Amino acid sequence: MNYFIIDFDSTFIKNESLDILFEISDPNNNDKIREIKKITDLGMNGHISFSESLKRRIKLLEASRKDIDKAVNNIRLNISDSFEKNSDFIRKNRTKIYLVSSGFHEIIDPIAEEFNIIKNHIYANNFVFDDNEIVTGFDDKNVLSMDKGKVEIVKNLNLDGTIHVIGDGYTDYEIKKEGFADYFYLFAENIKRESLINNADFLVKSLDQFIKIVE
Ligand SMILES: [Mg+2]
Repeated sequence: MNYFIIDFDSTFIKNESLDILFEISDPNNNDKIREIKKITDLGMNGHISFSESLKRRIKLLEASRKDIDKAVNNIRLNISDSFEKNSDFIRKNRTKIYLVSSGFHEIIDPIAEEFNIIKNHIYANNFVFDDNEIVTGFDDKNVLSMDKGKVEIVKNLNLDGTIHVIGDGYTDYEIKKEGFADYFYLFAENIKRESLINNADFLVKSLDQFIKIVE
């Protein structure tokens, strides 16, 4: 039995969902947007720890529940082309697919549900809100907010079969590195992180290429 662990940001969708939320919540603040992207990249390339990168970014975030809804609407129009195209594959394999993301349920769930991803197969972080529906932080007890969170999630799934991880970032590769996946597919449709090429079993430029390999 094959299982597919799929990343969300820059894999299932074209961009980083948190970057989009930043742009929407503080539209003309280019310095801040640049700073956020820099922190994201440092984390994705493995130069700073993931939890450090999340902490630094959320500290700079000033977003409301409404901003999150706007971000979801934006992301809906920016699904990766090959994921949009292969929604049948996703539906047919829904029992084998797990979405494991360091992004946030509040953004990911509405999109994932449209692709028929099983609700309890979605693993992500949670925002914390104040009484005025403003984001004040994130649930730091959620394992995905911690270093090696994705590794921990996949380990605890205890899947009996061949585990394929598809993603664009270091934390996706880490699942295989730590021994809880059989294959890591570096997904390069949206971004090709050169520093990860040597760690990948396969470099795939689209979900079509991935499907060709696994089917
Ligand atoms: Mg990603």
